Amino acid sequence: MSNALPEDTCLRGGRLLHDPLRNKGTAFTDEERDALGLRGLLPPRVHTQDLQVQRVLENVRNKPDDLDRYVRLIGLQDRNECLFYRVVMDNIEEMMPIIYTPTVGRACERYGHIFTRSRGLYISIEDRGRVAEVLRNWPHREARIIVVTDGERILGLGDLGVEGMGIPVGKLSLYTACAGIHPIHCLPITLDVGTNNERLLNDELYLGAQHRRVRGADYDALIEEFIEAAQEVFPNIVIQLEDFANVNAFRLLAEYRDKACLFDDDIQGTGGVALAGLYSALRITGQRLCDQKILFLGAGEAGIGIADLMVAAMADEGLSREQARRRCWFVDSKGLVVASRDGLAEHKLAYAHEHAPVADFLSAVEALEPTAIIGVSGQPGAFTRETVEAIARINERPIVFALSNPTSKSECTAEQAYGWSEGRAIFASGSPFDPVTVGGRTFVPGQGNNAYIFPGVGLGLIASEARRVTDEMFFQAAKTLASEVSEEDLALGRVYPPLTHIREVSALIAEAVADAAFRSGLARRERPADLRADIKAQMFSPEYPNRA
Ligand code: NAD
Repeated sequence: MSNALPEDTCLRGGRLLHDPLRNKGTAFTDEERDALGLRGLLPPRVHTQDLQVQRVLENVRNKPDDLDRYVRLIGLQDRNECLFYRVVMDNIEEMMPIIYTPTVGRACERYGHIFTRSRGLYISIEDRGRVAEVLRNWPHREARIIVVTDGERILGLGDLGVEGMGIPVGKLSLYTACAGIHPIHCLPITLDVGTNNERLLNDELYLGAQHRRVRGADYDALIEEFIEAAQEVFPNIVIQLEDFANVNAFRLLAEYRDKACLFDDDIQGTGGVALAGLYSALRITGQRLCDQKILFLGAGEAGIGIADLMVAAMADEGLSREQARRRCWFVDSKGLVVASRDGLAEHKLAYAHEHAPVADFLSAVEALEPTAIIGVSGQPGAFTRETVEAIARINERPIVFALSNPTSKSECTAEQAYGWSEGRAIFASGSPFDPVTVGGRTFVPGQGNNAYIFPGVGLGLIASEARRVTDEMFFQAAKTLASEVSEEDLALGRVYPPLTHIREVSALIAEAVADAAFRSGLARRERPADLRADIKAQMFSPEYPNRA
């Protein structure tokens, strides 16, 4: 386990208590209090970390709603990171929806109003020409992974400008909680290029520049300078793009994936988690990936990201890219994406196949006879009874993934998918659903949460000091995740392992990703003799070190 901090012995007294990475609060022992000038600065009784956890849980659970719980937990993160991670890791299913989606979305919408203390780094469009200087102001030169947003498409909430900072902060907390990436290696960044959100432009407590979004050459110049400066200031840095709008997300990924160790979780992480769900589903149907025909509802970052990764994985099974693409079809708000349609966005072109126009999703299911339907449209109820009945007529075990978040946006509910298919659907959702009993059988729906994939991928990239992020790394991550689903899980219809196994799963994903980096010559360090042990040794664990 790697909990070591640089200059560990320098801090003493009040300054030590105000350093969240080193503070232990009431858990400083008598010896530490004497050795570190803390005597009298803390209430006399020494508490164990277990007792501290008990106090935190009591306080958090007593709060009237999740936004209050979020504020309380972030306050703890600001005071004592080790204790924060102990609480989050030991109660991951309860805490993840508070420190990340959906509560973090509510926090972002109120960010300027609930703001207490700055976390992360802000780089504004006015900082062009001195981005490296701003990056050097970050107090930890050990940063190994950046999550960066420009706040334009925060979750499903749209443009929140700099108040989207809650997302990089929350996401990096999951990198630590789920994969043990040390907090000191995590750097959340928000690029302030303005906002087009009228409410924020008129809110005097808004925390960013109150002008409209800068676009075009000036925007591109800031991004370029940022990516170059990040690599210069923090050698071996991993950069994860987060919640950029479609207009920028696809082109930034295409532009920089061969120039930095960079990926976009909304596109590639979603691809990884959905592909893992599909691999698990194929363990149930006994079919091969390259024999699937997949029909997507929604052709945005999630849909295209999933299809691109499936194409890469099918190509690995022997299909040509063109054959693989022809196995992926899209319906967007204007109907089936076909070659004859005018004005298709660039990212849809590869999937615009020759076919007569089809106006709606049900007709597309009937015309194409897919083995799987994947909803990533944000359109609740779009998987109607007729649609589910149609795919259940075509397939003995139809694959129905309704991935839109939050639960209220899901294309269908778990109960509908199982009920309308007489319990034959293999179902997964983006947001959690309770178990469902149909015809005397109980099903436990799997939740295709990106947190199954990105933390392990990040850890593998850091551990191998990878130069680039490849599709292979993501489909190896997906295979690893699917292989961690037990036969008992599959018998319940569950295509993902329980979230409580996330640390072990992330370590295995990290190993698979690092292995891919070593095999493809993309690692900047020598392969260790025991890769698994090497990765485990790098993982942070929230135990207090002895400081006496
Ligand atoms: P996006 O805005 O990039 O794409 C949405 C797509 O849906 C667009 O192509 C749009 O044209 C299409 N669409 C809108 N209305 C439609 C309609 N009536 N019929 C058909 N298509 C329609 O968003 P995104 O990032 O791709 O996310 C889409 C959804 O997927 C969101 O609800 C998001 O929460 C969910 N998602 C889930 C996961 C997960 O489960 N792990 C991960 C990422 C995104």
